[in-house]
Amino acid sequence: MISVTTTLTGFSFIYFLYSRIPYAMLCKTFERCEATTKRLAITEYLVQLFLQAIKLTPSGLLELLYMCINKLCPDYEGLEMGVGESFLIKAIVSSTGRNIKNIKAEYRSTGDLGTVAMNSKGSQGTLSMPKPLTVHQVFQTLKDLSQITGNQSQKKKIDKINSLLVQCRGSEAKYLIRQLEGKLRIGLAEQTVLSALAQSIVLSKPETSKLSQEKIEQALADAAAIVKSVYNQLPCYDMIVPALLEYSIKDFPDHCNMRPGIPLKPMLAHPTKSLTEILDRFEDRKFTCEFKYDGERAQIHLLPNGKSMVYSRNSENMSDRYPDIMSKLANWVMPTTSSFILDCEAVAWDKENKQILPFQVLSTRKRKDVKEEDIKVQVVVFAFDCLYLNGESLLRLPLEERREKLRSAFKETENEFYFARQMDSNNIDDIQVFLDVSIENNCEGLMVKLFDGEEASYEPSKRSRNWLKVKKDYLSGIGDSMDLVVIGAFYGRGKRTSVYGAFLLACYDPETEEYQTICKIGTGFSEEDLLNHYNALKGHVIEAPKRFYCLGENPVKPDVWFEPVKVWEVLCADLSISPRYMAAVGKVDASKGISLRFPRFIRVRDDKGPEDSTSSEQVMTFYYNQANSSKGKGDDMDY
Ligand code: ATP
Repeated sequence: MISVTTTLTGFSFIYFLYSRIPYAMLCKTFERCEATTKRLAITEYLVQLFLQAIKLTPSGLLELLYMCINKLCPDYEGLEMGVGESFLIKAIVSSTGRNIKNIKAEYRSTGDLGTVAMNSKGSQGTLSMPKPLTVHQVFQTLKDLSQITGNQSQKKKIDKINSLLVQCRGSEAKYLIRQLEGKLRIGLAEQTVLSALAQSIVLSKPETSKLSQEKIEQALADAAAIVKSVYNQLPCYDMIVPALLEYSIKDFPDHCNMRPGIPLKPMLAHPTKSLTEILDRFEDRKFTCEFKYDGERAQIHLLPNGKSMVYSRNSENMSDRYPDIMSKLANWVMPTTSSFILDCEAVAWDKENKQILPFQVLSTRKRKDVKEEDIKVQVVVFAFDCLYLNGESLLRLPLEERREKLRSAFKETENEFYFARQMDSNNIDDIQVFLDVSIENNCEGLMVKLFDGEEASYEPSKRSRNWLKVKKDYLSGIGDSMDLVVIGAFYGRGKRTSVYGAFLLACYDPETEEYQTICKIGTGFSEEDLLNHYNALKGHVIEAPKRFYCLGENPVKPDVWFEPVKVWEVLCADLSISPRYMAAVGKVDASKGISLRFPRFIRVRDDKGPEDSTSSEQVMTFYYNQANSSKGKGDDMDY
């Protein structure tokens, strides 16, 4: 249980001097979090930290929170922390004067540049004590760094990193370098940080101390649920934190409503392996089937001032990528519609024949600096949900009502905008026919969604069982493809000598923040693919596997290791338990993981970040779901 009273540590001196939160105080909290795996303990350390900030420097709470989740701004603003490894090594060399060879050797043995930086600082004699770093100073410098471009940018970046490194004491260098890499990985999952934020707000109110222990616990749990729910609708700390500081927990949701211009994390679906599974899941509930279009998810926003934007599955602003969607928007919006958030799929389109083109065509479209007049691949928008309309959130309404609103607020416009094709019969033969029609129309299969009642609401950021996906091609396999991170490669042989010929892939475990190896893949690549992959990956080669790569006791050893940056969609025949791969280790076996048998490359998933890749929990579910069909019990095999 978290104590209401919190003690001020020796950091109060710096508070007193600079009215700023000392960076050392944040790093001390990081150290404590890193030393435990217990979620409750981590939450408590964060609560202590936030409480001190609320009491002494409330204006610093926002920056402190961003530092804990290692972000600089909301996702849709697009400022990224990640500084390349070679930059960081150069900065460590120039700030400590240590020999680059020694630094690289130490990095190869620890896999953690942060620790190398800390040790390098430790072995360095200091003439005078530098001024202590503050959270504000570090945060602002990181923000400046992420905006440096153009001439001399390399030198400017190294100078900035140096200016911080020379001021670091103790563990500060370790966490600074990890923050710069963009990967703290000390158990500070965003959900934990949100709980801690909510709890610290409750505990900071004097009236809380008058409550019984039981009531305090209830108030903490309620506050965490409220803050998480508000965050799902308005994922913007810049708005949430000031509102939390100003209003009571009860009143603050009224000041943090969802709005166009701030993208929501989309609702996700569960895979299914058969149509009967759908009937089992929904039994006698009302559900609807829609075509599952194979393009790119697009969340389209219109603000009351007429400004519009398109966001990706990952809340990235794609307005510049789709100027053609933006310019035609007025054609398909009814005059009575003044603001909205739509959930859609942008799909490549053949204007002449009025038909959908496969995803491969869409992927040839330029992704940056797109000029409308140069566009060769046309797209249309298929809208399947409406989340906000004319100043009102529709999230709580059942899909049946959201669909009605969608259809009344927009109009289908040839070659530009259509409603997702739907079929509302619950008869399995009708569903089978609809699935076949979807495939004939270059779709991937069906999305089957609960249609009425409370559970048919829109659940942002959730992989919900109220939305099921059926992918025709994968019905005979494990039900879905996986999206995996490329962490290593093997040089090719024969015709493939100048490129990588095979790759080591991993899934992501958000609990441990580790990438766990899952398979070696060398199938499904054209010569052109291999060349593209080589060019895309060669700039991400690292000296050694990262400390957060889970490789096992007898690991597969690729010729080169990569930063976790690229995500690929992969299909496999089935899954098996393996002593050499570590996916979902500890979930189905104490020391062995799950590996993919006969993996085959499908495509690059540029719309997914490494942490959006298939989770170890999902891998485990795939494994158990196939276990009944007596597959996946075989011994491990490389492909
Ligand atoms: P996931 O979103 O489950 O992680 P994914 O991104 O790999 O998986 P898919 O497995 O292909 O995507 O399935 C979900 C995606 O299908 C959605 O994110 C959306 O882009 C797309 N989609 C196409 N048609 C629809 C539809 N009618 N309703 C909802 N989503 C649809």
